[in-house]
Amino acid sequence: MDLHIDADELASCVSCGLCLPHCPTFRATGEEALSPRGRIAAMRLVQNDGEPATDEFVHFMETCVQCRGCEPACPSGVPFGRLMESTRSTLADAHRMTPWWQRLGFRALAHHRLLLAGSSMLALAQRAHLVPKRLGLSRLPLRRPKPIAPTAPTTDADVWLFTGCVMDAWQRDVHADTAKVLDALGITYAIPGPGGGCCGALHVHAGLEAETKRLAENVMRSMPGSAPIVVNSAGCGAAMKDYGHLLDTAEARAFAARVQDVHELVAAHIDRLEPRKHLGRIVVQDPCHLRHVQRTHAAVRTVLGRVADLVELDDDGVCCGAGGAYSALQPELAGQIRDRKVASIERAGGGVVASANPGCSMHLAAAGVRTRHPMSLLAEAL
Ligand code: SF4
Ligand code: SF4
Repeated sequence: MDLHIDADELASCVSCGLCLPHCPTFRATGEEALSPRGRIAAMRLVQNDGEPATDEFVHFMETCVQCRGCEPACPSGVPFGRLMESTRSTLADAHRMTPWWQRLGFRALAHHRLLLAGSSMLALAQRAHLVPKRLGLSRLPLRRPKPIAPTAPTTDADVWLFTGCVMDAWQRDVHADTAKVLDALGITYAIPGPGGGCCGALHVHAGLEAETKRLAENVMRSMPGSAPIVVNSAGCGAAMKDYGHLLDTAEARAFAARVQDVHELVAAHIDRLEPRKHLGRIVVQDPCHLRHVQRTHAAVRTVLGRVADLVELDDDGVCCGAGGAYSALQPELAGQIRDRKVASIERAGGGVVASANPGCSMHLAAAGVRTRHPMSLLAEAL
């Protein structure tokens, strides 16, 4: 089967194994087949040697969290994320992964009212103990604050504030806190127009390439002009920064260059803030899509270091097992990976954990960890 992986990129792995200690599925299981090197070897067998894409092969691919912790560790610069995206897209096109019910769920993310209604129903079902615990879902809000209002017309605003789909349904309070921080900095913001509600991050993980491209085009149309696009979800920011590669157009590359994680923006202006409160010790957890993909996790420390004593984890930023929809689709492995993260948090002394990604914070919260978004912590200190 042709997995449509670039031949040079597939050949670039020298099988050194330096990535293995950075791979959460390898660390949790000790299985070579569930490591980056093992997965690349399996891809080569299928794409280069004509081996069949067996159910076992699909399992090796589906169990990858797509955290990309293997990329910064790799001396050969293997772009593992792209290898995995091409593989998953091929498998999904052949209906070997992402069954119809999952596709239906992913499609709903682009219909915001439907998503909000579905989310409220799920929250009710949780209260009635109808949601299986093994899904590891943290407590969803029954009520959510009003949507944040723009502080400037779309043509004049300093930045666009991307609000997203799941983030807006489950963590709208983080948008309100982000708005407070932008206000304190004197930065005005506009909210995306119609169609700008879902960036496609979860779709690309699921191999739904055509759907991802459609969503990316909608998002680009929803935030015209040249103002920077500010994102407070690490996973969404990483996906939007990749639109140039995804769509391969000059317009998409220009759009992607405008995308900033909110901590990058706030860190650049941190001296303008005058906090009124010190928050004490805060443990910092790095979402993979901030640390390994956007590589902007230092900005979180610049921002929070102004208002708290930061405590680092001792696990070199290994994934927590959230991985977008991974925690729901691979609950057992996601739970094992999370156990290791929780142990690292406990070794650090526990307490409040700052996490800049909704998936990570909800996955950890479901295990009893007290998580808060860095923007919420900063807003409190202001
Ligand atoms: S993306 Fe993450 S889970 Fe997948 S192989 Fe790389 S390190 Fe392992
Ligand atoms: S992906 Fe990179 S680090 Fe991992 S085995 Fe291949 S060359 Fe070595």
